[in-house]
Amino acid sequence: MLNKKTVENLNVKDKKVLVRCDFNVPMKDGKITDDIRIRSAMPTVEYILKQGGAVVLMSHLGRPKGEPKPEYSLEPVANRISELINKEVKFADDNLVVGDNTKKMIEELNSGEVILLQNVRYRKEEKQNEESFSKELASLADLYVNDAFGTAHRAHSSTAGVAAFLPSAMGYLIEKEIKFIGGALENPKRPFAVILGGAKVSDKIGVIENLIDKADTLIIGGGMAYTFFKAKGYEVGTSLLEEDKVTLAKNLIEKAREKNVDLLLPVDTVVAKEFDANADYKTVDSSNIPEEMMGLDIGEKTRELFAKKIKEAKTVIWNGPMGVFEMPAFANGTKEVANALSESDATTIIGGGDSAAAVEKFGYANMMSHISTGGGASLEFLEGKMLPGIDALENK
Ligand code: AMP
Repeated sequence: MLNKKTVENLNVKDKKVLVRCDFNVPMKDGKITDDIRIRSAMPTVEYILKQGGAVVLMSHLGRPKGEPKPEYSLEPVANRISELINKEVKFADDNLVVGDNTKKMIEELNSGEVILLQNVRYRKEEKQNEESFSKELASLADLYVNDAFGTAHRAHSSTAGVAAFLPSAMGYLIEKEIKFIGGALENPKRPFAVILGGAKVSDKIGVIENLIDKADTLIIGGGMAYTFFKAKGYEVGTSLLEEDKVTLAKNLIEKAREKNVDLLLPVDTVVAKEFDANADYKTVDSSNIPEEMMGLDIGEKTRELFAKKIKEAKTVIWNGPMGVFEMPAFANGTKEVANALSESDATTIIGGGDSAAAVEKFGYANMMSHISTGGGASLEFLEGKMLPGIDALENK
């Protein structure tokens, strides 16, 4: 993935450049509540404008399921981009996405101007990656740039199909994701520590299997740890448990031993009787979880142990919270891990989704080397998979 063309390899002057971004932002009552994804896409837009190109932006928003739904209109995004780049952004309000209205607006588009298309998922062909729709999109421009990392793991018309019909390259955001995540996977500064958490082992099996060959330290917390406890012969009370993954967890523990990977599990656990923000809780040794209680966070000894390992590392990747961080009583493990990362001088990479949300929530976002803008995409990248939206682009 490191040998793909970047936007700087294209001659964009006096060209119309179709740029796929991930503007799938959270909205409430028609207002954008978090614009990080929009801001992250602006360097590519500004570069093309500065080089004398015209920018035709496209994205999906939410799940309109292949038909026009006003609540998923991208118009608020056009307005936000306009504020960010201090320039008019035209909005092609066209239920067909590439209808006559859009075509006319794009014909009239001059170098230095920006237009945003309507939600590409208004068309059912988009998710089916239908060639006809890919061609319609391609007909609008001279060049294609993909900068939508958050959807790069999906082979859709706007993320992959269209690349077959135009000279193509990746934008700065995808380039940055590849540089950090790809760089850590291919050539990490060691020790290389990977911290995995979140609800389920089954979501992270591919990541563990890929990284067990690469990491020096593998730290496991969150709900997925209890399946590993069971594999070690501990009882886990009413904690999250994937019975059908216990054998796999045993094999992974064995594999880590064989490969000399330092696999760390929580030594103590915060337990409560109910999954409730106001439940009474206490901390017990991980081998001692009472029958009627569930683990909801890593304990204090574990926080210290994990923080020490993080501080020894030179590269750290973190994906998945250490506990139910949405509830303040069970957020401390996740907070401590975020804090240890913020104090480390290692390259610190935060996978998208919940860990990115946690780092934001606790105020450590600007202390990390890189926070991925894609949850699913970063997971698949960590699994060692080729992402279709990047694969489709031209090589250098
Ligand atoms: P994931 O989407 O797999 O990254 O999981 C994130 C979710 O896992 C968050 O909503 C957490 O609340 C949840 N989680 C983390 N630790 C636990 C736990 N010990 N018990 C139940 N849920 C947990």
